[in-house]
Amino acid sequence: MRPKFIAGNWKMYTSLTGARDLAAAVAAGASAVPEVMVAVCPPFPWLNAVKGVLAGSPVLLGGQNCHFETEGAFTGEVAPAMLVDAGCEYVILGHSERRHGMGETNAVLLKKTRAALAAGLKVIFCIGELLAEREAGQTEAVLAKQLREGVAGLTPDQMANVVLAYEPVWAIGTGKVATPDQAQAAHAFVRGMVRTLFGDAIANGVLIQYGGSVKADNAATLLHLPDVDGALVGGASLKADSFLAIVKAAVR
Ligand code: PEP
Repeated sequence: MRPKFIAGNWKMYTSLTGARDLAAAVAAGASAVPEVMVAVCPPFPWLNAVKGVLAGSPVLLGGQNCHFETEGAFTGEVAPAMLVDAGCEYVILGHSERRHGMGETNAVLLKKTRAALAAGLKVIFCIGELLAEREAGQTEAVLAKQLREGVAGLTPDQMANVVLAYEPVWAIGTGKVATPDQAQAAHAFVRGMVRTLFGDAIANGVLIQYGGSVKADNAATLLHLPDVDGALVGGASLKADSFLAIVKAAVR
């Protein structure tokens, strides 16, 4: 049985004080729900402080991005090993705000994924189609391409440390959420692709989160679909109450 995994992507929000307070409240609430895996992904400058606040709690820490080189003259970038040193277990890669806002390609994301895994991080690898692609009936083709070019080059051992996040771009930060049928169909397709690429054991074990306007009031419906193993949450992760309500909704 796959565990449910709820991760909060704080994006470029929170002050230092706000991040500490939010982390403390999430840690307190998540301790009461040990059967659900919970992670928070604060902005880089707050990672160390948040790690301190999370000490002794089951809440995991993640970064929101990393570079594919181990070090070098890359102003403004962060190396995977730096995230490990800051206390991260996870890194989000391929978020649509980086694919579409920063021009990150599948080829770059494969390099980043390999580098993150080599440094000992687990990766939350985001995939998802644009609205125009869905309307043109291209959802499965887009997801297949993102998986073929973004993760198919990994070994099965590496893939075992990758969580996939299906995030339809039209649902991110828009308040428009995928219907249960749309979400289940996409997740089943993604798991089927993983089966084709990596075999039964990896496909049966891989966690596939849904992301896109998950809120307290729609979480339960989405989180109990057969191929949905959790959620990557943006806006609703910035308030402890709404994030913890999503965590609780993941309990079977
Ligand atoms: C996200 O940032 O990954 C996300 C899904 O955002 P939101 O929950 O705000 O749609």
